[in-house]
Amino acid sequence: MTRKTKIIATLGPATETADGIRMLIGAGVNVVRLNMSHARHDWVRTVVDRVRAESASAGRRVAVLVDLQGPSIRTGDLPEKLSIVPGDEVEFRNAGLPAGLALSTETNYTGLADDVSVGDTLLVDNGVLHFEIIRRETGRLIGRALTEGAMGSRRHINLPGVRVNLPSLTDKDRADIALAAAVDADYVAISFVRDAAHIGDLREELARHGSAARIVAKIEDQEAVKHLRGIVEAADAVMVARGDLGIEVHVEELPVVQRAIVSECARVGRKVIVATHMLESMIGNPVPTRAEVTDVANAIYEQADAVMLSGETSVGEYPVKCVEMLDRIARRMEREPGARFCDQIELPTEKHRTVKAAVVLADSLPGSKIVVFTARGVLADYLTHQRPVHSPIHAFCPDERVCRALSLNRAVTGHLMTFSERPEETIHQAVEILRQRGDVSAGDAIVVLSDVLTGAFDTEAILLRKA
Ligand code: PEP
Repeated sequence: MTRKTKIIATLGPATETADGIRMLIGAGVNVVRLNMSHARHDWVRTVVDRVRAESASAGRRVAVLVDLQGPSIRTGDLPEKLSIVPGDEVEFRNAGLPAGLALSTETNYTGLADDVSVGDTLLVDNGVLHFEIIRRETGRLIGRALTEGAMGSRRHINLPGVRVNLPSLTDKDRADIALAAAVDADYVAISFVRDAAHIGDLREELARHGSAARIVAKIEDQEAVKHLRGIVEAADAVMVARGDLGIEVHVEELPVVQRAIVSECARVGRKVIVATHMLESMIGNPVPTRAEVTDVANAIYEQADAVMLSGETSVGEYPVKCVEMLDRIARRMEREPGARFCDQIELPTEKHRTVKAAVVLADSLPGSKIVVFTARGVLADYLTHQRPVHSPIHAFCPDERVCRALSLNRAVTGHLMTFSERPEETIHQAVEILRQRGDVSAGDAIVVLSDVLTGAFDTEAILLRKA
């Protein structure tokens, strides 16, 4: 059986060569992620060319996800690290202001002292250093250290529960969006999205560059959680970005928030990715911890569309083993019934309800396959969201970009095909392709769904065929 859950691998020094990319694709990667916090533009052009070439020669479609850095707040450049012990007063000041305390750093966000209040928590370096804000002056915040550690240059600052007035996209993000359009990225992820309007800003910017890339909204702070419904509705896909999210919410809330995000996506009908620290220990070890296996299994049980690897494949020692491990866990867990949050899905249009009828039919026929003819991928998306219990979904589509984007959809395999003028001919051709690939056997029930066939089936149609 084909694996239903899709695997996203972040490229980096460990996997950027043609050989590295070939091995990831061979192990089952469906989407590669380019993290713009680290990637240079010439590197992006080179690796995207390699991904396209290696995926063509493997005959395996792979989508490209460009992950924007977003408006992150960082400490300034320091001549040497600041050694901090609990009780120390540390100053965070606007660039250009002179230091008012011995322990002082600039930050890259001039609105910081306006957005943060006395009593708020400020975290530095992925939550390692904790400060309670005790004073606020023009352009300066003074925090009392609650933890011990060393503060380096350009460290990430998190402000749990604080609504910051940063723009949705920085100048760097805009340049990276132009690049994403130029390399024909299939997905662009927006970091630190705080409300639905931010998705609109990205969509406008993509359109300005003639890109039809789908948008992934990264949920990584409390503001995003607060505006979850609007963000999920505005995006094409959502990422549970547990790296930042696990700092921005109390860590014991993280599993609760993950489940809320995954179930909201199931309710609205959007793709959902569970990301970060899935096999973190495998960065340096050839086997995962039992806890990691169980965490991955939980995401598969929740029926996420995709699970994502970050450092494991970008800088880790065992990138291929990590992909193989996700593949094994996914295949095993997909034999379990799963959480079925999709049973709560909203079906606002007749098209949604027609798809529901096809899924009910397929679910009632053991061993059945679903074939969908789709021009823009909409029907294939609706099928994915309704999570057929056992049937794989084969989406036939005349547009390579649409086929490629379906690489992120749970249980979907995209097939490029020109539709014939005669619907019977189109269906016959599709079944023939599946037979040759070994995806159907003689006598298999095939539920056919279409809204693009011409002639007698000009409207939404459900047909039942035998292979
Ligand atoms: C995350 O925070 O989990 C994440 C995926 O974002 P990034 O790696 O870009 O910080």
